[in-house]
Amino acid sequence: MAPTSPVFDHKKITVIFVLGGPGAGKGTQSEKLVEEFNFSHLSAGDLLRAEQNREGSKYGDLIRTCIREGTIVPMEVTIKLLENAMEAELKKRTTGEGWSNGLGRFLIDGFPRKLDQAFKFEEDVCLSSLTLFFTTTEEVMLGRLLERGKTSGREDDNVESIKKRFRTYTNDTMPVIEHYAKQNKVAEIDSSPSVDEVYKTAKDVVKKVFTEKHEALEV
Ligand code: ADP
Ligand code: AMP
Repeated sequence: MAPTSPVFDHKKITVIFVLGGPGAGKGTQSEKLVEEFNFSHLSAGDLLRAEQNREGSKYGDLIRTCIREGTIVPMEVTIKLLENAMEAELKKRTTGEGWSNGLGRFLIDGFPRKLDQAFKFEEDVCLSSLTLFFTTTEEVMLGRLLERGKTSGREDDNVESIKKRFRTYTNDTMPVIEHYAKQNKVAEIDSSPSVDEVYKTAKDVVKKVFTEKHEALEV
């Protein structure tokens, strides 16, 4: 088969991946970055939970089992959900900072969690500009998740599922970080301090992406 190019042109569509262990603060920081930089925030976990609950979905049971067991949902499902969500956003948002003249900016949170997803997404959908990598200790993450579990209603915010999620993160997601680190495309941010402290660093990193991108477009 002839090689295909990605659906979206990375010179116009900025994709920043957000990774880190469960409970590291990906969602929390993403929300703040969305407000400041007018991103579309796509959480792989949220998209999968929505698909799991969608009436008539043929993937509902599969997704439910993977989430409970803390394992990776097959990449075809996750990538298609992301691609569809990106397409819908680009159709809907055609004005505003970062969204006119065919531009777009996406913060993709909790993805790619495994190397095969990273390769497939960049081959078929869009090249990424950077991966924000939030790090803290398992002890801190466990504490945050158990606290979140009191109100989140999530089936996987319990000690048994959390331990499995830590294992999946170490075995499957760390190789993704190593892959992008070799390309100098990882910004590691210590997410142990307060939300606002962490955000100060995250904001500077993202600002730099757009500054460099703007320069590149002007050359
Ligand atoms: P993730 O998306 O990485 O799983 P969340 O952003 O949902 O993590 O954060 C997990 C929990 O920890 C949430 O209840 C959130 O309010 C809390 N949290 C996030 N960042 C911090 C922080 N820097 N300090 C203290 N609590 C935090
Ligand atoms: P999260 O909401 O990011 O904590 O993800 C919750 C669960 O959804 C994970 O433990 C996985 O089972 C599944 N999941 C989230 N993101 C992905 C992904 N990129 N690929 C496969 N499964 C995922």
